[in-house]
Amino acid sequence: MGNRITFGEDSLKMSNGLTSVFIDVLTLAGSRIAQTVDEKRLIVWLAEKDQSKVGIGTVGFDICEMPWNTENFEENKRFMLKVIEAAENRTDWEKLDYQPNEEHIFWALKEFAELISKLDFKYVLPNALGEWIMAADSDDPVICGFPKCEKHGALLSCFGCHICNN
Ligand SMILES: [Zn+2]
Repeated sequence: MGNRITFGEDSLKMSNGLTSVFIDVLTLAGSRIAQTVDEKRLIVWLAEKDQSKVGIGTVGFDICEMPWNTENFEENKRFMLKVIEAAENRTDWEKLDYQPNEEHIFWALKEFAELISKLDFKYVLPNALGEWIMAADSDDPVICGFPKCEKHGALLSCFGCHICNN
């Protein structure tokens, strides 16, 4: 049970509940600071890891599969590290209707930052972004101007608002 985020041999294993908190706090922080299309895409992709819609314990991924824009990889990577830092600073946590277990979530965010820090351009799957966008329906938020949840300010995925759904 649980979900595993991997980079090669390294991985971060979380319980299902912690995974939902992890996606909530990254979605809130990322939605607050994402400016460019690349940045918004990365957050929407994470918000699609919605266990309430796709199944409990089925949202693990390898960070090489994230929709990095290979033309802006270093900027994308810096952005993701900034999002993790913003989540560590409890950005918009007051919008959650629960109090995250800080010991657990800060551990997970730190481990995730370490994985992202290690990610080198040469391991990024060059077609991940294109294939993900190609697979999107015509009404998918990722190609429809990145709407946000009115209640949470969170970028919506094709499954709606991760925070509303959680
Ligand atoms: Zn919401």
